[in-house]
Amino acid sequence: MVYKGYPRHARSDQSSRLSQCTKNSGIWQQEKYSSTGFQFAGESLSSFKIMTNLLPIAHHDAYAHPLPPRHRFPMVKYELIAEQLVYEGIVKPDNFFQPDLATRETIGLAHDMDYVDALLELRLPPQMVRRIGFPMTRSLVEREQLLVDGTLQAAVKALITGVAFNTAGGTHHAGRNFGEGFCLFNDQAVAAAYLNQRGLAKKILIIDLDVHQGNGTAHIFEGHPEIRTFSIHAERNFPFKKEKSHVDIALPDGIDDMQYLETLTQHLPSLFEEIRPDFAFYQSGVDVLNTDRLGKFCLTGQGCRRRDELVFQTCKEYGVPVQVSMGGGYSIHVKDIVNAHVATYRSAIDIFEF
Ligand SMILES: [Zn+2]
Repeated sequence: MVYKGYPRHARSDQSSRLSQCTKNSGIWQQEKYSSTGFQFAGESLSSFKIMTNLLPIAHHDAYAHPLPPRHRFPMVKYELIAEQLVYEGIVKPDNFFQPDLATRETIGLAHDMDYVDALLELRLPPQMVRRIGFPMTRSLVEREQLLVDGTLQAAVKALITGVAFNTAGGTHHAGRNFGEGFCLFNDQAVAAAYLNQRGLAKKILIIDLDVHQGNGTAHIFEGHPEIRTFSIHAERNFPFKKEKSHVDIALPDGIDDMQYLETLTQHLPSLFEEIRPDFAFYQSGVDVLNTDRLGKFCLTGQGCRRRDELVFQTCKEYGVPVQVSMGGGYSIHVKDIVNAHVATYRSAIDIFEF
């Protein structure tokens, strides 16, 4: 990866170029999916990575959804991640593609239709809305549809490029018939069900390294014969009622880099050996950091980067394409959140040699 580095004065220019680019959707529009099947652009797609050598990244301006003042969810990170990636010269505006609204039928691959319809028609009961933690509006539901489609399209692109990102997503607390913890629809669960059902990938591993358990994802896929879930999380943290993942590693408070990385090294390769996945999803939440207000781990930025590298190196070693969604991050200073997320992209670019 060649770091080009845009000059500082060009920052506002770059962000408007990014915005323009995501609106146009650029070259990625060569590939389409629909609810009735794939319409690949023939042979051009198989040589796609060679032609472009671009890491695909789903992004939409609407990811940064306006919230009431002093709401504790750091929504601003979604515009900052994309801006920072371009500002630092890690990616170019052409790397970004703009998702569409995921359809009712697509979301229903992982969620009960009653729940999907209640959200799409804005008639979710108030106690279920409170469990989610966002004021329920049409634009919020559309944001969630966009981020589900962003992850789904990124997953399809990762089949070609080896790795692809969504600047949002990782909404792993959304279960089959409920949302909670700022999660409405479960983006990676929908995408996993889609790949599996279409035969694009059969054995799928969802690697969830957010500090909170991926309870919604576990709820959706418990007992699934082909889609397996793996979660390393803080035992004494939200969600207090844990669900059953294929493999759960619940760690005590205060875990440091060495303890965390040893645990990951102990379990991840053996899980790849056991499952032999042909696709992986990675929920790369950065609320494992020692600066996080809601996490209870003590990872440094360097430890968090090493965690990402271990995931990407394992995927690469086993020849498994991987889609990455951002997940949580609640450090006091938003720069700590953004820097840690941006480091995940940098690791993927280095390891997958973009
Ligand atoms: Zn989290």
